Amino acid sequence: MNNFTFYNPTKIIFGRNTITSSLKQNVPKNSRILLTYGKGSIFKNGVYNQAIKGLEGNGHKIFEYGGITPNPRYKHGMEAVELIKKNDINFLLALGGGSVLDLTKFMSVASCWTKGGDPWIMYQKRTIPKYSPTGALPIADVMTIPAAGSEANCGSVVTREYPTQNRKIGLAHPLMFPKFSVLDPEITFTLPWRQTRNGIVDSFVHIIEQYVNSLSNNPIIDGFSETLLKTLIDSSYVLLKKPKDYGARANIFWASSCALNGIIRTGIYETDFVMHHLGHEITALTEADHGLTLAVLLPAVWKNQFEIKKEKLARYAENVWGIKYGSIEEKAKKAIDFTVNWLHDIKMPTNLSACGKVDPKLFPKMADQAIKYWAPVKGSKGLGQFGNLGVKECVEIYKTCEK
Ligand code: NAP
Ligand code: FE
Repeated sequence: MNNFTFYNPTKIIFGRNTITSSLKQNVPKNSRILLTYGKGSIFKNGVYNQAIKGLEGNGHKIFEYGGITPNPRYKHGMEAVELIKKNDINFLLALGGGSVLDLTKFMSVASCWTKGGDPWIMYQKRTIPKYSPTGALPIADVMTIPAAGSEANCGSVVTREYPTQNRKIGLAHPLMFPKFSVLDPEITFTLPWRQTRNGIVDSFVHIIEQYVNSLSNNPIIDGFSETLLKTLIDSSYVLLKKPKDYGARANIFWASSCALNGIIRTGIYETDFVMHHLGHEITALTEADHGLTLAVLLPAVWKNQFEIKKEKLARYAENVWGIKYGSIEEKAKKAIDFTVNWLHDIKMPTNLSACGKVDPKLFPKMADQAIKYWAPVKGSKGLGQFGNLGVKECVEIYKTCEK
């Protein structure tokens, strides 16, 4: 096992009817609160009313910023920052999915950015520069979709529009851990299948991008990851038949948080996240759902990186899909086929055409941008756990997504 530091200060409050009581108990009294939310789902599923009830009677002053879009926008974040500064807001409460929470995380650091200039530099540089040690406003959230895992981590992904090409990039910083997150599986009963399936696939790929790339033979983490993967697969079939099955919704919710709360990174050598890195470039162009881009990239990345990944894929075949016989290559190939069949079973497309129009002439630019932004962290010239995916390989992967 590799050395590691594990730090996750977010308190998770999980279960039925927990929203009102947990807000009552955990939001500091007499706060000036900004409620942030998306395009309206919280008014239909009861989250808004339950949250307001939980905030009553504790001397709070409440402000609201709604209309946050999926793949949330920098310009909306900056609008909210103005509201925050104008009204001396000192607590941010996100009600919604990963997009609402990710943009609220942006607001929390951008509103404390006092050095002048554009706070976007934090996202461009993927760090909060030392010359601006100004902190962040406290954040909490009621998460309404198991997907991003943002409720259990300090990451945030935001899209900025540019005249030539949008950029979807991310920042992870300990200042952006939520103080607490409330997860009530019943709230997810109202998710349309498209969002349910997107969330399951996003969570699945979060696990895969850590597990399949880890060569560490870490029995605790490998075993935990396999259980999480099986739980997502089994629960997805339950929900296809019974979308309001509480047990399946609860299992998916907790699996989704565990997928990205840092636990399954402990003691492993390398993670990869290349499906995410290449997927963000597709979304920046077409607004394709995040989960969809991952489903499109997963088989293409595995096929392209087969030699490097085949041993771990064979283990995944055995322990997740029960494929006991055959050579390493045969098992690894079956692992890809079984995964694709499952994606199709849950009505998730795996072809790039489902993401909207992407001109293949743009593949080299997309690859180049993804590499320039994500690879230098490891000091390498390419993506992937060994930095071996240069522009040529990434373009090949995008081309495979078209087949
Ligand atoms: P989302 O974009 O927040 O929400 C997707 C849609 O689901 C919205 O239209 C939303 O409607 C609707 N919705 C949410 N909860 C609902 C409910 N209970 N019932 C009915 N409809 C509901 O989805 P997400 O997948 O959680 O977030 C995606 C974003 O997270 C992407 O930008 C992705 O890149 C990012 N991400 C972040 C991390 C991280 O670690 N921070 C990791 C992976 C991905 P309303 O707008 O009406 O609420
Ligand atoms: Fe994701």
